[in-house]
Amino acid sequence: MEVLIVGAGIAGLTLADQLEQQGYSVLMVEQAPGPRTEGYMMDFFGAGYDVAERIGLLPDLESIHYPIESLNTIRPDGTTKYSLRYKDVRALLNNRHYNFMRGDLERVLLERVKDRIQIRYRTTVTSIKQDNSMVHVELSDETTVDVNLLVGADGIRSKVRSMAFGEPDQFIRFMGYNTAAFTFPRTSAFKSVYSFDNLAKPKRQVTLYPIAENRMAAFFLFNKERASGRITREQAIEELYARYGDMEWVVPDVLREANNASDFYYDDVSQVEMSRWVKGRIALVGDACQCVSLVAGQGASLAMAGAYTLAYCLRKSKGNLIRGLADYEEIMVPQVTKVQSSARKFASFYFPETRSQLYVRDLIMRVSVLPVIRNFINFKSIRIPR
Ligand SMILES: Cc1cc2nc3c(=O)[nH]c(=O)nc-3n(C[C@H](O)[C@H](O)[C@H](O)COP(=O)(O)OP(=O)(O)OC[C@H]3O[C@@H](n4cnc5c(N)ncnc54)[C@H](O)[C@@H]3O)c2cc1C
Repeated sequence: MEVLIVGAGIAGLTLADQLEQQGYSVLMVEQAPGPRTEGYMMDFFGAGYDVAERIGLLPDLESIHYPIESLNTIRPDGTTKYSLRYKDVRALLNNRHYNFMRGDLERVLLERVKDRIQIRYRTTVTSIKQDNSMVHVELSDETTVDVNLLVGADGIRSKVRSMAFGEPDQFIRFMGYNTAAFTFPRTSAFKSVYSFDNLAKPKRQVTLYPIAENRMAAFFLFNKERASGRITREQAIEELYARYGDMEWVVPDVLREANNASDFYYDDVSQVEMSRWVKGRIALVGDACQCVSLVAGQGASLAMAGAYTLAYCLRKSKGNLIRGLADYEEIMVPQVTKVQSSARKFASFYFPETRSQLYVRDLIMRVSVLPVIRNFINFKSIRIPR
């Protein structure tokens, strides 16, 4: 069986690994010029953790895990309002939790497959046609490939999805937030930031954390009435100044670093809602069809879970590819729909719009790690088939 995977991100690389092990001949195309290093600190728990355990990836994840002492909520003058010990938060997830930079996860997945799988960088699809037995794909490098299965693992703005399923507007739900993230040198201005420090105000918050001896990372999240779409870096930095220019603490110093950041990231926060992920011999995986958004805190984890489930269903269907794809859709769609809904509820709690909502959030967060409360906290993930 021949398969073409479009997009060498977290979902695409996980799927490539699993299908190649089953004997598929896998070709990947990736539009970026090389592996992408940009990213932010991610939580990793739930179904993705289960997948990592099954495929023997946990030692690699352990090696990229960032030790964090505590999660601190900061007052505008830089003093700590309250602090949660990371080990208590981790215990909420039965210690099955990592945090690492997105680029590091992509790197370890790539390391795993790079000697077995051909990845053509700077390459994308330009046309797709399918009949009952094959998908005929034209690529931007002016070659053509005929495959039994085409998978769009090309993220939230998936081109495969647009070509095979229709325009993005019908699938993308903007959640009312924008986000920015970048890294910068840990100068003396940031010496007081030693762990995961968050300053929250109604409708906007910023989190800072050291990521290595001499580097820091910043993560911004703020309410926005309308999606920004694709905007230039200059426009994005202007937007950050407009939203955060008057914020206290070390925020003015952080904003000054945005101009120099080589890994500046800015995007709308959206979910992708689709009831069908498969069309004939074309399937979608990861954010392309199931983006739960960063407010769910498990986009990468679910991307791996989706890829693993797709490979599992294809294996179980013993060569009946259409049956396997139908099973994949049946297992994943209802579960992801639930996570998306729970993420929307969590977002309105965790990213408050008023002072009184912020007060309530802080009150609940302070007690969230108490043994009696933590039994009631449910971090919804999905089940992967066994
Ligand atoms: C600020 C922020 C914080 C986040 N925090 C978390 C978190 O705490 N925990 C968590 O689990 N997740 C988090 N996420 C989400 C997570 O990064 C994604 O959900 C996850 O990486 C999905 O993986 P993917 O492979 O489906 O898509 P992507 O990672 O987007 O990969 C898609 C790949 O396809 C390529 N591509 C795109 N278009 C084409 C094309 N036309 N042709 C060829 N290639 C193409 C891209 O270059 C990319 O390499 C966060 C996201 C953001 C923005």
